[in-house]
Amino acid sequence: MHRAVRGMNDLLPNEIQSWHYFEKSFTSHVELYNFHEVRTPLIEHTALFKHEIGENTDVVEKEMYAFERHGDFLAVRPEGTAGTARAYVEHSIGSKEPITRWYYLGPMFRGERPAKGRYRQFHQAGCELFGDSGPLCDVEMIDLVYQFFLKMGISKMNIHVNSIGSGHTRQRYRQALVDYFTPIRHELSEDSQRRLELNPLRILDSKNVRDQELSSQAPNILDLLEEDDKNHWQLLVHFLKKLNLPFVIDTKLVRGLDYYTRTLFEFRVLDTDLGAQNTLCGGGRYDKMISNLGGPETPAIGFAMGIERILQVMKKVEYKENPLCYFAPLDSSAQAKTLELARKLRDLGLRVEVDGRGGKLKSMLKRADAQKAKWCIMIGETEMEKEIVSLKNMKTHDQEEISWKNLPTYLANQSKMDHGQAACLE
Ligand code: AMP
Repeated sequence: MHRAVRGMNDLLPNEIQSWHYFEKSFTSHVELYNFHEVRTPLIEHTALFKHEIGENTDVVEKEMYAFERHGDFLAVRPEGTAGTARAYVEHSIGSKEPITRWYYLGPMFRGERPAKGRYRQFHQAGCELFGDSGPLCDVEMIDLVYQFFLKMGISKMNIHVNSIGSGHTRQRYRQALVDYFTPIRHELSEDSQRRLELNPLRILDSKNVRDQELSSQAPNILDLLEEDDKNHWQLLVHFLKKLNLPFVIDTKLVRGLDYYTRTLFEFRVLDTDLGAQNTLCGGGRYDKMISNLGGPETPAIGFAMGIERILQVMKKVEYKENPLCYFAPLDSSAQAKTLELARKLRDLGLRVEVDGRGGKLKSMLKRADAQKAKWCIMIGETEMEKEIVSLKNMKTHDQEEISWKNLPTYLANQSKMDHGQAACLE
């Protein structure tokens, strides 16, 4: 028997409703903030990820699905920002509009060790905003995510924020970390000893307990911020307070990717069984990426949220569907009539399944029941003669006769079509 690749999951129809609900909610929410959807390829040149995410990051170094085909070195995207920024530069969007607000949804691929809330194919929804350098837009973006989580029924969370400064601050901080860790390097984990040379900021990110203890006394980046970075940071904190957002300043937050400058943030949910995988959303500023990619100097900020994790926290979404009308034709002449009537019902927006198996009414009623149909519409010889249907309410078991002519409007009026509306049960 063939099995799906480890860490990659099928989404079967019984769980897809919650995905549709998420997707609809996310798109309508971010559209309120005037974000527009962009769709970029799943595969990019490996070099894009190496340059933008960073060669010494876990994502690029250990987790990327990369391969060579027809002489090109390619990789399946591990995240959405690099491809989106590439498209922004390639299509010279910056010369057409001063500010660009894009969002995306889709699968991402990382060869991580699978665990609950950590997969090799997972899905992210994210926004990227190009062309605005001010802290107001950082806070608007953080608030966008917060408001979205509230809409999804998730309220118990902390928003971790930090600034890693830009240019000079980064250089000075890097040096300060090297000076601090070098005398105690032999106490660091093997990974962190390697990071000390390549990317010392990442030591702060380590999951190793001893590394974390040693990091607790490390220099604080906020003390080293230069004036512009400091102004940005202070205004950011001011706006976060004004909006009463549940944030915590977390100077150890560096996030795994190299492209960030200044603001970083993560949404961590409290009280879940997700364990270490409790980060629902991560983001930050990346003011240098567009110019690195050959575009003009363009500030940018973005976030990505993990859909699987969010759905796990939401646990149960009760989705009120458009009620189902189930046709049970009892012979072949009734079958043809059924297709005609089904068409009319669907034209009015009703959800319809036609049972084409022929045979016993009992088994058709059984399936109607299993599909939670609201009505079963039966047509046999007598109904054909009288140009009616026998309409059975599957809940009350009441049965009535309705003419073919009246059936569509009768059912449309009966059904309160509140599909798309979901009640979130925590
Ligand atoms: P990142 O791109 O690493 O900043 O991740 C952003 C968000 O995507 C995280 O906060 C998670 O919610 C989600 N995410 C990242 N990696 C995975 C994974 N391997 N499996 C499931 N969700 C993930």
